[in-house]
Amino acid sequence: MSVREGNLEPPTRHPIDWKNPDYYHEGALLTELERVFDICHGCRRCLSLCNAFPTLFDLMDDSATGEVDGVAKDKYWAVVDQCYLCDVCFMTKCPYVPPHPWNLDFPHLMLRAKAIKFKKGQVPFRDKLLASTDALGKLLAIPVVAQTVNAASKNQALRSGLDKVLKIHHDRQLPDYAPQRFRASARTQAQFPVRDGQRAPGKVAIFSTCYINYHEPGIGHDLLKILAHNEVPTILVEREACCGMPKLEL
Ligand code: SF4
Ligand code: SF4
Repeated sequence: MSVREGNLEPPTRHPIDWKNPDYYHEGALLTELERVFDICHGCRRCLSLCNAFPTLFDLMDDSATGEVDGVAKDKYWAVVDQCYLCDVCFMTKCPYVPPHPWNLDFPHLMLRAKAIKFKKGQVPFRDKLLASTDALGKLLAIPVVAQTVNAASKNQALRSGLDKVLKIHHDRQLPDYAPQRFRASARTQAQFPVRDGQRAPGKVAIFSTCYINYHEPGIGHDLLKILAHNEVPTILVEREACCGMPKLEL
């Protein structure tokens, strides 16, 4: 009897077992990585999705055996580092996600690997700092400080120093900080009547995100103008904080 492919049906997502001490067992993780990488090796559908899969396939193709058993396990981390947990491979590509018996959830496996790396203290200070988008924004997206930081980020001597100390490449373009945050200057308009559409509610609460709030407030202001033009009432989400997505990439 043939086995039906998993994503001919809605994928099933098992909860992340992060409170279980076994979740952080590195040996068990490496065994599971080897199992999953071997399946991916025979499939390769996700080659074009992100850099994690080309990194994985290059490791296997360049190994002595041309198979996953030819890849040293400490090289697995190069694949993990390339995953930014967008979930596209699980949601759109993989035919082996649950309920398929192969039970393959590539993003959740990458997340487990990242959690183990974090617990072992192997995440550098640089990464933790860059992932603290809310804290950095609160500190730097204010008048005078923002202009100073923006100028400094384009100064080659300072960038060489940053490269040496924090290993942020001197050519890496860094986003400018806005001297005035979106949330401090957003002109929401709550006075319009709520008119629900057929498929969408007729009012909007804006979660600005760190990037719009601290770096590109103009995009948020444009959105508010469009919504006001269409007489859609808007408010800002109260007590907004970082969604935590950057920290999932650590
Ligand atoms: S979840 Fe990770 S491995 Fe999957 S497509 Fe996104 S970045 Fe690539
Ligand atoms: S995640 Fe699934 S679809 Fe993507 S390469 Fe691996 S087995 Fe194939």
